[in-house]
Amino acid sequence: MDNELGKTTYQRKNSWPMILFLFGTSLVGVVGTPIYIARHGITLIEILLMVAFASATAMGITVGYHRLFAHQSFKANPILQFLILFFGGAAFEQSALKWASQHRDHHLYVDTERDPYNIKQGFFHAHVGWLMFWHRNTNYDNVKDLQKSAMVVNQHRFYALWAIGAGVLLPVMLGFLSGRPGGAFILVVCLRMFFVHQSTFCINSVCHKFGKPTYDIESTAKDHWFVAMLTFGEGYHNFHHRFPSDYRNGVKWYHWDPSKWFIALSSRLGWTRDLKRVSHFRILDAKLAAENQRAQKSLKLMADHPQLDMVHGYLTEHYGQLRRRLLAWEGAAKEYQSVLYERISRHSEDIRKAALQRREAAKAHFKETREQWKTLQLQHLGVAFS
Ligand SMILES: [Zn+2]
Ligand SMILES: [Zn+2]
Repeated sequence: MDNELGKTTYQRKNSWPMILFLFGTSLVGVVGTPIYIARHGITLIEILLMVAFASATAMGITVGYHRLFAHQSFKANPILQFLILFFGGAAFEQSALKWASQHRDHHLYVDTERDPYNIKQGFFHAHVGWLMFWHRNTNYDNVKDLQKSAMVVNQHRFYALWAIGAGVLLPVMLGFLSGRPGGAFILVVCLRMFFVHQSTFCINSVCHKFGKPTYDIESTAKDHWFVAMLTFGEGYHNFHHRFPSDYRNGVKWYHWDPSKWFIALSSRLGWTRDLKRVSHFRILDAKLAAENQRAQKSLKLMADHPQLDMVHGYLTEHYGQLRRRLLAWEGAAKEYQSVLYERISRHSEDIRKAALQRREAAKAHFKETREQWKTLQLQHLGVAFS
């Protein structure tokens, strides 16, 4: 186990156990499955077990390793923490402590050589090459908060036992009880592991290469809806890098983010609490800043535009007005909230109605200015980045 203290270091070195493990499980899962099905067929129990284990282990990583332990975007009760360590461990993606330490480095040093899955070293490196061809001495100084949890430390110290127990022995035992242990090994251990590994790896590779830079155009992290479908909501990676402490990755209500729904639903049951959410206005502000940057960037490419300076002036001035209207809307919304919480006078209903009217008027002003912003972009750039 790699838990010595000291500086985190990297070294180009083939990790043969990892190469053989990833290659072996993939081979048995992908090649073994059609052969097994052709010879023995497939039962409903096998399908259900595979879906259940794939979902539980993937969400152990997304909900638990990532949003709970690495980012502390919410708090969970001890039972849920145990389930996360149990099923997250079964994904065979290292201990929660090591995973969180590496992931915090990814955010802090993104796109530099201290980023464990640095996309600048290539797509394959960010996907899986970093695990197979690089040796990393992890410094756990950045996860001292997690080291206070006896359960997290136990899972780290005895990781092999947790992972093999939850990820191999349990599914094979369930397969044995249903009379098909071989099928359980091929489908519920190997094929399931292949799927969860590859989908998780896509966040570090695909989501740092393809998709939309919705909230930060300088970031290599992108929002990719298809990866979100594969990863229980983790594909909205540009949002996540811009606002890593938010328990949501898909911030719109319709974004496919089952991890967010699970955390929110669990809070209703009292299993999770203190869910961190970035204000709607701060998110909108970031989105507008990204739109403005894209518009200005696109204008720079039009060097032969006859009225370059004038259009630049229009865009800058209008963006400034848009932000002022956003701030005015935010102020009016805060005022309305405080009126709701402080019903102090018998005229409070009138005060409430007046505050509501001010909020709605400020919102309408903002929306109107935003429409003008889109029209301005279309007129002068031929495309709207809104
Ligand atoms: Zn990332
Ligand atoms: Zn993250």
